[in-house]
Amino acid sequence: MFGKICPYCREKIKKNAVVCRYCHRDLKAEKSDDCSSLWIFAGFTGLALGAAAVLGLGYLNERKRWKEHDSACDFEKDATDQAG
Ligand SMILES: [Zn+2]
Repeated sequence: MFGKICPYCREKIKKNAVVCRYCHRDLKAEKSDDCSSLWIFAGFTGLALGAAAVLGLGYLNERKRWKEHDSACDFEKDATDQAG
């Protein structure tokens, strides 16, 4: 495990080599970086979705309470109208 195979010339080279010592071609960043950034993106998307779900549920609960509050206010108004 002290090296990898150059994809161009199939020679054994060092694992973290940036340029192949045999054919001198660029070997930097073979998808592994893309993969990690993809995972970070997935993590952020998951967090955003979770936050949106929590906010949505909270909003629905609040709306239910507002509706109850509104009907209570209407009832009070009717009562005062009748009294006055
Ligand atoms: Zn090579």
